[in-house]
Amino acid sequence: MSERTLSIIKPDAVERNVTGAILKMIQDEGLKVVAMKMIHMTKEQAQGFYAVHRERPFFDSLTDFMCSGPVVVSVLEGDGAIARYRKLMGATNPENADEGTIRKQFALDVEKNSVHGSDGVETAAVEISYFFNRLEMVG
Ligand code: GDP
Repeated sequence: MSERTLSIIKPDAVERNVTGAILKMIQDEGLKVVAMKMIHMTKEQAQGFYAVHRERPFFDSLTDFMCSGPVVVSVLEGDGAIARYRKLMGATNPENADEGTIRKQFALDVEKNSVHGSDGVETAAVEISYFFNRLEMVG
């Protein structure tokens, strides 16, 4: 079934100029980009995005990191896009990420792990609408 998922190329990856290399992996997987933009979040915007993690010990550090520089947010579409993108991203901690995954290739550590992808249908809908309105999405 065709799905949409939210992708973020995080500040560590944008800063190292590997946005294009990551987008190539996404496109080679057959996922279609139906919306995309570069933004630099405020602390409040990062806190809003990661609100589900607000009780976690790393919340402050994570939200500082996510607003430390620009990110590239996009909406990816395809059959089973949510699970397929999670698989392509690899494990949260790059030490545990499989060969061939984005995080294995690019992540620096468990926090600066280069990419975000929605983890379910409901979260994808909430996360997409956090960054994009209907007019900004193709199709
Ligand atoms: P994801 O779905 O694989 O991105 O992982 P989670 O939803 O569990 O965590 C969200 C994000 O928080 C991760 O992508 C990391 O950037 C960060 N994160 C997760 N676990 C840790 C941790 O133990 N320490 C720190 N500093 N950051 C973490």
